[in-house]
Amino acid sequence: QQDGPEAREIAKYLPYFPFKGIPRFYDIGGFLYEPAIFQQIVDIFTARYRGLAVDCIAGLDARGFVLGPPIALALQKPFVMMRKQGKMPNTISSTQYETEYGSRSGLTVQRDRIQQGMRVLIIDDLVATGGTLSSAITLVKMLGGIPVECACVVELKMFIDPPKESGLPSRTELFRK
Ligand code: 5GP
Repeated sequence: QQDGPEAREIAKYLPYFPFKGIPRFYDIGGFLYEPAIFQQIVDIFTARYRGLAVDCIAGLDARGFVLGPPIALALQKPFVMMRKQGKMPNTISSTQYETEYGSRSGLTVQRDRIQQGMRVLIIDDLVATGGTLSSAITLVKMLGGIPVECACVVELKMFIDPPKESGLPSRTELFRK
């Protein structure tokens, strides 16, 4: 960004949020207050996916609901919500999964939104351990869809291959499974 703050200044981090024991939480909400940066983020994703065969965009609860719709509109594709349990009627769920913050019950999607053979782009704000994205991939596959790619604004690199003694889960290990 030439005239204004850089994206990395906006994704400020807060220590010990949402609870003690979590060293830092990257607050990406700041880009919503900076239309030029928000637009730039949407444009980068749109440019990447315009040329790829994608039938729908699945956004993950909750910040994927902020980022996904402008990209879906720019690409003129349907937007599908993948929500936490108990928020929508007539849903199908993936199984329980692990995240940076511990165990979570599965993600849900409304029946018939993702159909056999549909090519699905999965969008969230941030990837840490990859548990949430893995659960979304599982759900798309359960429904016969094809996960094309997962896209996030922030990647926490410390979860890729952390040293054993750190006690952090490894994203590479998770994706190997
Ligand atoms: P994972 O499942 O990869 O461990 O965690 C990613 C999920 O937790 C995403 O849905 C993301 O929104 C949330 N999350 C985990 N850590 C952070 C963080 O530092 N900042 C933000 N904005 N979200 C986080």
